[in-house]
Amino acid sequence: MKIAFYDTKPYDKIWIEPLSAEYGFEIKFFEHKLNADTAVLAADYGVVCAFVNDTVSKEVIDVLYRGGVRLIALRCAGYNNVDFKSAYQKINVVRVPSYSPAAVAEHAAALMLSLNRRIHRAYVRTRDNNFSINGLMGFDLNGKTAGIVGTGKIGRIFIDICRGFGMKVLAYDLYPDKSADIEYTDLDSLFENSDIISLHCPLTPETRHIINDGSLASMKSNALIINTSRGALINSHALIEALRSRKIGGAGLDVYEEEEEYFFEDLSNEILVDDDLARLLSFPNVLITSHQGFFTSEAMQAIAEVTMENIRSFENNDILDNEICYKCGQECKKDKGQKRCF
Ligand code: NAD
Repeated sequence: MKIAFYDTKPYDKIWIEPLSAEYGFEIKFFEHKLNADTAVLAADYGVVCAFVNDTVSKEVIDVLYRGGVRLIALRCAGYNNVDFKSAYQKINVVRVPSYSPAAVAEHAAALMLSLNRRIHRAYVRTRDNNFSINGLMGFDLNGKTAGIVGTGKIGRIFIDICRGFGMKVLAYDLYPDKSADIEYTDLDSLFENSDIISLHCPLTPETRHIINDGSLASMKSNALIINTSRGALINSHALIEALRSRKIGGAGLDVYEEEEEYFFEDLSNEILVDDDLARLLSFPNVLITSHQGFFTSEAMQAIAEVTMENIRSFENNDILDNEICYKCGQECKKDKGQKRCF
């Protein structure tokens, strides 16, 4: 198999290279993201491996298909960047559904704790011999309420972490698990009653801008919003306005609506042209990390292994367990008997 890996960094290669040799795959690493300009580079590669901020639009899929690509192996869980309608009957799309939900949940906890206790500011202060604690006051998490949107793999681990801090947990999920020991409520009540709101649902047309002017207006004035899921769950303009008018307490963001151009890149010598991102970075009560929730050694190892197995299954014409289907919108489970759904 010849595989074109897009949007690769040195830390991707160290996990992928040794495994690809074991599997006997021929790998080409591209540093560029996959998009309409770069898709042509994959000509003659049967498989493309893409990441969260690659563009897998109709235009890109058509170019890949014409170039002979028959499998897109996403090395991530989320797949909101793929136009499945265009891939249907042309290119199979697989993903890594779960590599380390704990990694992301723990990062959400890191954001929650740092933001609440102003660790990001304290770190900078003490390095400058400024030992004042003025402005660094947080609140006890013990006894407060965490509102969790999306109680899947990551959301559930984050729930356990919050309970470990003595927090009460409220949750909302489109498909609540009635058998779980989780108190589900409607979204409005969750926004109204939570001190910490943490987003763990996928980005879909229904969840896009789930945090908006209306939901922000209903929150407690000291509420902290944590987003380790996808940037577009939050309307950035609404968030900026809520922070500017002190409507909420702060935001810890591992993802940003327009992150594609910025996250994962060293732009320290550039002028930041995204005014919304610049504004968000200017708030003392906003803590932004660059989509690193997944970034642990355990997760990177699992991503590499599952990606190689996904490609091996395709090569062997086996059932693609991690295929995302245009018809059912998730992994094809109902069509197991017919191998692939499309
Ligand atoms: P999951 O599929 O296990 O759980 C998602 C949950 O969201 C499910 O319980 C589902 O029923 C629920 N859901 C679906 N639609 C919803 C809606 N409209 N409203 C409320 N809930 C809804 O996924 P997961 O592994 O827990 O991952 C959650 C998200 O985390 C992913 O979609 C991805 O965007 C993000 N993620 C981020 C990173 C990172 O590095 N920051 C890494 C991996 C995943």
